[in-house]
Order: sequence, then C-alpha cells, then structure tokens
Amino acid sequence: IKNIRYKTKIAVIGAGQAGLSAAYHLKRMGLTIGKDFIILDEAPSPGGAWQFRWDSLTLSTVNKIHDLPGMSFEETLSTSDTEVQANTAVPHYFELYEKKFELQVYRPVKVDKVYAHHNRFHIDTNNELFSDLGIINATGTWENPYIPDYPGAALFQGEQLHTKDFKTADYFRGKHVIVVGGGISAIQLLDQISQITTTTWVTRRPPLFREGPFDDMAGHHAVAMVEERVRQGLPPLSVVAVTGLPYTSEIQKIEQRGVLKRFPMFKEITEKGIKWDNGIEQKADVILWNTGFKSSLSHLDAVLPKEVQGGIQMTGRLATMVAKEPRIHLVGYGPSASTIGANRAGSAAAKELLNTLSDVGHSLT
Ligand code: FAD
Repeated sequence: IKNIRYKTKIAVIGAGQAGLSAAYHLKRMGLTIGKDFIILDEAPSPGGAWQFRWDSLTLSTVNKIHDLPGMSFEETLSTSDTEVQANTAVPHYFELYEKKFELQVYRPVKVDKVYAHHNRFHIDTNNELFSDLGIINATGTWENPYIPDYPGAALFQGEQLHTKDFKTADYFRGKHVIVVGGGISAIQLLDQISQITTTTWVTRRPPLFREGPFDDMAGHHAVAMVEERVRQGLPPLSVVAVTGLPYTSEIQKIEQRGVLKRFPMFKEITEKGIKWDNGIEQKADVILWNTGFKSSLSHLDAVLPKEVQGGIQMTGRLATMVAKEPRIHLVGYGPSASTIGANRAGSAAAKELLNTLSDVGHSLT
C-alpha cells in the first residue's frame, strides 16, 4: 500500500500545451504550486508530445504553433529559419516557459489509475500516490495511437507501423510501403517516403482538399462541429477530419510527382501484403498506418462516466467540463485538440474547476 505523497486541491495531469496553460491560469488565480496544485507528467523532459515527433517535422511543415499564455514562442527561437525542428524548438520553449512562470512539473510520473476515495480522487502513479479534490486532465493523444482492425492483420509477415513510430524516411529504403490515411501526416510521410522508395497510398475516402487557405472561419466552423459532438456525448472527431486539407503549394508539388495516386481501402491483409475487394493484391514490406490518435484517457476509466453514444458528455463554456463529473475537466480534448484550443481550454477549465470546488465548500486559496 502506497502512502499519499501529496494531498493538494487540484492535479493537472500532463504538461503539454493544455496542461501548462491550465497551470499558468491556476497560478494567476492565486493558487500555489506544490501546496494547492500539482502538475504530473510521464515524459522525461519538457515539450509534451512534441519532443517525440520526427526530425523532419519543422516549423515550416506544422500548421501553426500558438503561443502559450504570457510568453511568445517566436522570441525563444534562436533563428528565424523555419526549417528548425519542431521536436527541439517547442520543448525548448516549454522549458523556458516552465522556468519563467515557476511551474515545477513532477516528471517522469505516469498516472496509471485515478479512483474516487470519499470526496477526493486518488491518483495512483508509477511511484507515488497523490490525492486531490479536482482534476484537469491534459494527457493529449500521443500515447493512444489508433489502428483500425482489418481481417488478416495478424498474418502479415512484414512490419506494421504507426505515424508515432516514424523517425526517418531512410528507414524504408528498398521496401515497398503501403501508406494508409488521408490526413496531413499521411500525406507528409507519403511525400518523404516516396522520394526514397516505392509506395501505395490507400484511404477510406478520397481526401478532401479545401480550396483556398485555411482561414479563421474554417477553423471556427470545424471547432464548433466537434464541440457540438462532445456536448452530445459523442466521441470527438479530429478537427482536421472536419476541415479537410488545405491545397497548398507543397501538395501541388507532390501531385506533380505523380505520388498522390490514391487507392481505396483494401478488404484484407495477407501474409505478403494487401488485397482489395476485386481480388487484386499488392505485395508490401511495410504497412504504415497514419490513422490518427484517440484521447489518452484510460487512467480515468474508473471516474469518467461514459455515454451510450460512445463518448463523454461535456459541458461548460468551452466544453472542457465533464457533465456528470464537474470536478474533472478535459483540456486538449475534442474541440480543444490544437495548440490554440488547448490554450483557451486551460483558462476555462482553471476558472470553472475553481468555481465548482468552491461551490461544494472547499476554500481554495
Ligand atoms: P500533448 O502535447 O500530447 O501533452 C500531453 C502530455 O501528457 C505529455 O507531456 C505526456 O507525457 C503527458 N501524459 C500522457 N499520458 C500521461 C499519463 N498517464 N500520466 C502522466 N502524464 C501523461 N496543433 C496545432 O495547433 N498546430 C500544429 O501545427 C500541429 N501540428 C501537429 C502535428 C502532428 C504530427 C500532431 C500529431 C499534432 C499536431 N497538432 C498541432 C496537435 C497538437 O500537437 C496538440 O493538439 C496540442 O499540442 C495540444 O497538446 P496537449 O497538451 O493536449 O497534448
């Protein structure tokens, strides 16, 4: 039996964009870190999931990384060169941010299971036990890659990888690679791998390219649609799945190379490759699943009420509050799964959770 290491009021679980934003706002509202709230993170260093992403993901190939509250990202860059790697630039920014606002993060601390204990939550981790009145969960999606089930998957003698496993295109040299998925990551990795080796691109639906730039209106519309889903207790869709892909000059270049030749989804996986409905087969050495991520929430299974629609019903100003358990907020989830969304969600969750806890009679500052 573990002793409770820390008994505070609020636990922020995860120190990516969403967790740091929430922590910043808790502190601004007068809470003291270590006494009133704690931040726990599984990763060895600052940077959230960015520290694990592949080297060729640069500031020119990401969409846009929004500033955390109170500190500019751009000012922390040592160069104006946009070819700088996101997996070093963002962790460096987060590290400076944690120092500037004195947001000490307990790491590496992996939360395994949260359970209710009298009027508190007990947070069991890989080493110690924490006890809190409320939770702001900001664990992102990186730890929960999604690969759909296809018949024959276990027979395949080649390698099945997910976006999460991608390090360099060079790894695929001399191999035939089936790239699955119609999102931004699929297309970016297809572009890189197809410059080194042969590829087959398969997607469930023809990819939806947007005409014109990805403007604020399109962003608001996409976020509103995902927000509507989670307010109804439906599982969230990724924001990109709703917006479609911007038809950029990079995409035009890939198209000109003849690589964006899309095949429909196969029916089954065989020992040697894939097979479509019409019986045609394609041999392959690797199937690279760029089929997205789902929220990493399994540590909350015992305390998150699930709806029959398959999701978690959310409420509150920005839909960060769990409708049936308002002492838990999910930030970076559903409509706030972007750097800008995570920022705003952190602020809303901090305010609303403090209100909820003071309504039930806890003195918080
Ligand atoms: P994360 O950055 O994933 O942070 C979650 C943290 O929780 C991690 O530090 C992790 O260690 C910790 N954690 C997880 N589980 C546990 C646990 N059980 N116990 C303790 N700690 C735990 N968004 C944009 O706005 N612009 C972009 O250009 C952009 N590009 C992207 C490119 C790629 C390839 C991907 C995959 C995503 C991209 N996104 C982009 C989405 C964006 O990265 C996230 O939505 C955003 O960073 C929000 O981060 P977060 O804090 O929710 O999650």
